[in-house]
Amino acid sequence: MTEQTEFRRYLVDIDSNKTNQLFTDCLVIGSGIAGLRAAIEASSNCNVIVVCKDTLESSNTFKAQGGIASVLKSADSFESHAADTIKTGCGLSDKEVIDMVVCQGPELILELLEWGAEFDLNDGQIATTIEGGHSHARVAHAHGDETGRIIAESLIKKVKGNPRIKILEKFYVVDLLTNDDNGCIGMVGCDRARGMQLIWSANTILATGGAGQLYRETTNPEVATGDGIAMAYRAGAVLHDLEFMQFHPTTLYIAGASRALITEALRGEGAILVDNSGQAFMKQYHASAELAPRDIVSRAILSQMLKTNSTHVYLDVRHFDKKHFTKRFPLISELCESFDIDVIKDLIPVRPSAHYMIGGVRTDMSARTSIENLYACGEVASSGLHGANRLGSNSLLEGLVFGKIAGRCASEKLIADIKHPSINYKIAHSNRTRLDTVDVRNSLRALMWRNVGITRWERPLKEASEIIRFWQRYVMDKVFDSLQGWECQNMLTVCELMADCAEQRQESRGVHFRGDYSEINDKAFKKHTEVVRK
Ligand SMILES: Cc1cc2nc3c(=O)[nH]c(=O)nc-3n(C[C@H](O)[C@H](O)[C@H](O)COP(=O)(O)OP(=O)(O)OC[C@H]3O[C@@H](n4cnc5c(N)ncnc54)[C@H](O)[C@@H]3O)c2cc1C
Repeated sequence: MTEQTEFRRYLVDIDSNKTNQLFTDCLVIGSGIAGLRAAIEASSNCNVIVVCKDTLESSNTFKAQGGIASVLKSADSFESHAADTIKTGCGLSDKEVIDMVVCQGPELILELLEWGAEFDLNDGQIATTIEGGHSHARVAHAHGDETGRIIAESLIKKVKGNPRIKILEKFYVVDLLTNDDNGCIGMVGCDRARGMQLIWSANTILATGGAGQLYRETTNPEVATGDGIAMAYRAGAVLHDLEFMQFHPTTLYIAGASRALITEALRGEGAILVDNSGQAFMKQYHASAELAPRDIVSRAILSQMLKTNSTHVYLDVRHFDKKHFTKRFPLISELCESFDIDVIKDLIPVRPSAHYMIGGVRTDMSARTSIENLYACGEVASSGLHGANRLGSNSLLEGLVFGKIAGRCASEKLIADIKHPSINYKIAHSNRTRLDTVDVRNSLRALMWRNVGITRWERPLKEASEIIRFWQRYVMDKVFDSLQGWECQNMLTVCELMADCAEQRQESRGVHFRGDYSEINDKAFKKHTEVVRK
């Protein structure tokens, strides 16, 4: 890291005597599946504050389409779900964590159903479908491809009706507050309506989700800028496996439109990938063709794009029954219609995009991080479930299970009498050049896509680190007072760590593919990449 990044403990000046303060037993940062499930659980033991940087609905969770994986049919088994998860994780997943998560899944999904999440049913039972990498149909879905919205809304309703949970929307958390005696003691952030605030908490749960916005092409909403990873890094938490960014193979490719995801379930139910001459190509790359793991499909698409000199490939669903398609995939139907694509006559243009952050803040079976009184769950955490690759639909499951665990553990052990130290942290203000942070952010996202993308090579990785360090020199010395500035600093921090980790892992494993080291190397690299601030 540059000197600038290393010495800066907090991104802003803090004077606890002059800043508004709130107090709570349990602070939850994030309103996705992990944060909301954590808040509900914690509220049975204590008072909770949930903060999120936009509205409760702005999250990766809300956008999830395909479904949530769990053993819901008698033909399926926990052993089979665990075996598929382990196989996909390429030697880096934690068997104990996997067993716990798959075993707790069914009960927690039935609980969501009770709380009003209308999963699609078949003969009165939760309907399930198959996705790539799963050996059974175990993916439950809701309102077709609106699984995330339906789950999120059921949790939001539950949270809003709970008098022990206070919700603060449009509240940007800048940094976690820590001290040597108590570990994490709360956070400093900016409430869009009231300005800078301190929240002191006995326990804090980080549930800030993913980091897809670090890439030019992404399925993730604007809130997914990796803030949680950056603030945990500054606080001294151990991070794991930041090189493992999963790319989703099929996102709609229309210039000017956002990269909307075309769910994997579509391939699960028979959609075929074809190139610009109409040729199906997946069988050339993998025996499971369209149902091969995501990383293989993403690389196959890139390779076919190169071979055919094209910017995208297509999904062919022209053989589907239109009525069934519209009912089963209402979001995709609407999306395609909005671009005048008639799915029964036209091909759907697609290409891969950054989708899911596998690495993150290292946690144990109780969702504890390496910092006392700080827990993490969901996409921001590295729990050991996914290893080097994530099995589709296992992330909502992870958020649900670890959200509950984090909420329980963080509310069981409350310190009776926390002493809130006064904090006075001042940063020497820089009067170096003014900055257009939007320009830095766009350039960074393009650099990550080019140099730290689906296929990585040593030279471009080194070059990415050098360029990021150069940008850091004049971005990290500033003290911003806006979300755009803080996000830009966080993005530079996480991108630098990711490029470094990707350079260190001189092998190809799971979602991390090195063009210059295309084989797996168990002898040297069957281990996690660990990062911690010096
Ligand atoms: C398009 C799409 C489709 C997907 N489909 C599926 C699927 O079918 N099945 C599946 O299992 N997974 C799917 N995923 C992945 C899955 O949705 C996510 O991994 C999961 O929802 C993450 O949940 P979370 O609670 O960890 O974080 P999120 O749901 O992303 O929530 C993060 C929260 O943190 C808040 N936050 C972030 N930074 C700050 C800050 N600085 N201050 C305050 N608040 C902050 C955000 O505002 C948000 O409320 C999909 C993802 C996307 C993007």
